[in-house]
Amino acid sequence: MTASPTTAAAQAARAPAPAPSGPFDLERIRAEFPILSRPVRGKRLVFLDTAASAQAPRAVIDAVRRYREEQHANVHRGVHYLSEVATAEYEAARVKIARFLGAADAHEVIFTRGTTEALNLATWTLGKTLVGAGDEVLVSAMEHHSNIVPWHLLCQEKGAKLVVAPMDDRGALQLDELERRLSPRTKVVAVAHVSNALGTVNPVAEISALAHARGIPVVVDGAQGLPHGPVDVRALGCDFYAFSGHKAYGPTGIGALWGKMEWLDRLPPWQGGGDMILSVAWDKIVFNKPPFRFEAGTPNMEGAIGLGAALDWMEAVGRDRIAAHEQELLAYGTGLLSSIPGVRLVGTAPHKAGVLSFVMDDVHPHDVGTILDREGIAIRTGHHCAQPVMARFGIPATARASLGVYNGRDDLDALARGIEKVKAVFG
Ligand code: PMP
Repeated sequence: MTASPTTAAAQAARAPAPAPSGPFDLERIRAEFPILSRPVRGKRLVFLDTAASAQAPRAVIDAVRRYREEQHANVHRGVHYLSEVATAEYEAARVKIARFLGAADAHEVIFTRGTTEALNLATWTLGKTLVGAGDEVLVSAMEHHSNIVPWHLLCQEKGAKLVVAPMDDRGALQLDELERRLSPRTKVVAVAHVSNALGTVNPVAEISALAHARGIPVVVDGAQGLPHGPVDVRALGCDFYAFSGHKAYGPTGIGALWGKMEWLDRLPPWQGGGDMILSVAWDKIVFNKPPFRFEAGTPNMEGAIGLGAALDWMEAVGRDRIAAHEQELLAYGTGLLSSIPGVRLVGTAPHKAGVLSFVMDDVHPHDVGTILDREGIAIRTGHHCAQPVMARFGIPATARASLGVYNGRDDLDALARGIEKVKAVFG
């Protein structure tokens, strides 16, 4: 008997990733990203905007194309061959995500449009269940708006309060202050794994231990965590972990919320529609089990399959090696930018991922970005959807260079040369 498409794809997805071999070969990695070979403004593209969105390797582009050319049909509903193939591939991507996160069960992985939708899902299922009038939700001072605004809306609706755990002048979370803010009214703790504006890596395992000692669940915004090194949700000890595919070398419009089954089992649906139900009658609706209870409507199949391919690709490169490469570059870039007079790094916490946010004397970050762009250097300028962070440091915006697997010291050297040009223009 031949294996059904479902069995074959699921088995392949469960198989442990082959151990990466050989040295980290930057040029070989760069060659896998077609976009890096296109010139920008007549110059070599220096892409330092991965925190906003990563470029995709050929393996991801091919997986999405193959899906469209050979595998597409709607999932979960059909009895015909292509529907079975699409379902198998889609569910195999779920299994890959579970494996990538160290999750106990693939059914703990809910596909979403990305981190933003994942955090909204956590807010309007978990938050809505737990938070009542007079209760509190605790977030950190360095959250992205996606991990502030949904909780703010919930608190407003429920008559609850959003409480903020502060950070120090380096942008490091003050854990003792966070602990002091955990009260009998705290119903949820929501923190970033890594700050997109500062690069700070938060001590999620410690935060989870503090919260769990008081019976409080922890929701983690992993948008900048998952793409930059190994993540094991069981070691982190959190209850929910949200991320976006497009920041992890995958397609846009796809991401996931991982949640512990003991929570998911208890939570009500969020959006209603097809696939999230078992039966619908005028007088009674029976909801599906997790994760399908939280996935209403036709999902983003090609996105999920592309995301699965992206995670496979990261595993093939080696997640430890990606982290080590980016850490080496972070140290190099930190040294380089710190040595330029008139440049000040914003975010110098002891534990950081590959983000170099900076300001320059007498030059607005937007001008920095515009002049660098003329050199083919892509950075991001603005508040990075973290306006409270900007307010904390008393600045309107920063220029932010962020690192990915394809960056090298040459990119950071180009950035430093570009900054000298900015200084020459404004000197
Ligand atoms: N959280 C963090 C820390 C982020 O960096 C981002 C993206 N900038 C988000 C949440 C939102 O991600 P998305 O726009 O992919 O939903």
